[in-house]
Amino acid sequence: MKMTQDSYRLSHIRHYYGENKVLDIETLQIPQGSITGLSGPNGSGKSTLLKIMAFALKPTQGEVWLNGRQEFILSPRVRSRVTLLTQKPYLLKRSVFDNVAYGLKIRKDIKNINNRVKQALESVGLAYGFARRQWHELSGGEAQRVAMAARLILKPDVLLLDEPVASVDTKSAGLIRKASLAARKDWGCTLVIASHDLPWLNECSDTRLSITNGQIFSTGRENIIPPPYDLSHEDWPVKWLGSDKTGEQIRLPLRKNTQKFAVIQKEKICIRLERKSDNGYDNQITGKIISMHMEKRSGQIMATIHAKDFTMDIGFSLAQARSLGLLPGKKLILMFRSQEVEWR
Ligand code: ADP
Repeated sequence: MKMTQDSYRLSHIRHYYGENKVLDIETLQIPQGSITGLSGPNGSGKSTLLKIMAFALKPTQGEVWLNGRQEFILSPRVRSRVTLLTQKPYLLKRSVFDNVAYGLKIRKDIKNINNRVKQALESVGLAYGFARRQWHELSGGEAQRVAMAARLILKPDVLLLDEPVASVDTKSAGLIRKASLAARKDWGCTLVIASHDLPWLNECSDTRLSITNGQIFSTGRENIIPPPYDLSHEDWPVKWLGSDKTGEQIRLPLRKNTQKFAVIQKEKICIRLERKSDNGYDNQITGKIISMHMEKRSGQIMATIHAKDFTMDIGFSLAQARSLGLLPGKKLILMFRSQEVEWR
């Protein structure tokens, strides 16, 4: 795969809804032809970021560069390069054919249109017979696949996917995932995928980003311990796991007023099957593996681990995975020192 230049460069992006600052991104670069997986809790700013990247929303402040050129609005040039698929598909109140062919007709690019509609429908597992159906004759999953076909037919440079498989049936989800990867393989499409489906993101992404309260963190090397934070009886910052504040807690170092987020580097986290005292790890929290995959670049096993209400990504060697019998579903103890948690 050839990665020549950046598809996107965002700088100094801030976005406010009224008084409420919902995005604060100093810089973000996304190489052409790459797949970026974006995760984060509801309300963290994923949709707002994707709308800004789709030029459907103008950020309150900051610059968005697309293919090396600063762009401002959804001009015809931008419209032909970038497309956004949202969780709830927006279809025209017309036939499937009209929906899929719409973008090409706008561009007056109608050569072989029947064949291209057929191919686009087939790429999401729909037979050409579907083209005659009306918009209201589709299941939710089929409607989402039609919306995906309507984007793929344009062969965009960038496909932005906002929770594309969150509310569709398993078969449609599989077909949408497959069609997304094919877009990158067939014409080097850049993909940015916001999803709660972490196993999928881990499997397909070149870069994983997490977003919390409008700020971006790389999940490549670090894990964010998300707010809110509390103070312990001894006035020490802590993060409770679970909203009832009775279970486990993570001890955090002291912080300055300006520091907002606690971050722990992956390599500082050690995994064991049981707690152990007197080993210097003042944080020993219970987690459960929800998915594992082999990272080709490093040869390491990467695992996504749930610890009550947040998720961490951790890497370990194949030998360690074997010796501890690590598999999805396995419970384990994550150990790290509070002093190694950084405040940002
Ligand atoms: P996510 O996609 O991660 O769930 P969003 O980008 O949708 O997050 O939302 C980020 C924050 O902005 C949330 O607090 C949400 O309530 C708020 N928000 C989103 N859209 C609007 C809007 N049109 N007007 C006011 N607030 C909004």
